[in-house]
Amino acid sequence: MKISVLPMGEVEENVLKTLQCRLVKVFSGSTCKIMPKFTVPKECYNIVRQQYNSTLILRETLRLAELAEMLGSREDRALGVVDVDLYAEGLNFVFGEAQCPGKVAVISLYRLRPEFYGAPKNEGLLIERAVKEAVHELGHTFGLRHCLNPLCVMHFSLHIGMTDRKQAEFCISCNSLMDL
Ligand SMILES: [Zn+2]
Ligand SMILES: [Zn+2]
Repeated sequence: MKISVLPMGEVEENVLKTLQCRLVKVFSGSTCKIMPKFTVPKECYNIVRQQYNSTLILRETLRLAELAEMLGSREDRALGVVDVDLYAEGLNFVFGEAQCPGKVAVISLYRLRPEFYGAPKNEGLLIERAVKEAVHELGHTFGLRHCLNPLCVMHFSLHIGMTDRKQAEFCISCNSLMDL
């Protein structure tokens, strides 16, 4: 897999770099490059909800990645990273969204920050959560659905506690379904 990370808006350099290192470890044999920063499109903001529509952000990630010709081959993937609160229709919030299957995924750091839950700032924990959500969303691009194993990265996180409980890796069964 060839992953292009597309930061949109303000995203800490250190988080992106660590994410890059971790993704090539989880998806062995993959490459990962960080693209220059893009802006979060204003049209994705829902003024009533005061949140950003993740489906629109996903669409924008696809548009930008296609424009930069990042999705030419079968193994190409684009991962949008934002730091704004995301929602999807019918859900109060989402940690991310992806095409399933497809080539594009998006994650938000907004609700992965310990300070969002009133806990002290903790960059290590933030990165750990970001890796899990990125691996999860990229898993969807391979057509993987949610897994019942609460420790598997493809388990659905209803809240941050479930993200913290699961590992950053695929269980044996999800791994065998992945067509890398
Ligand atoms: Zn999911
Ligand atoms: Zn699994």
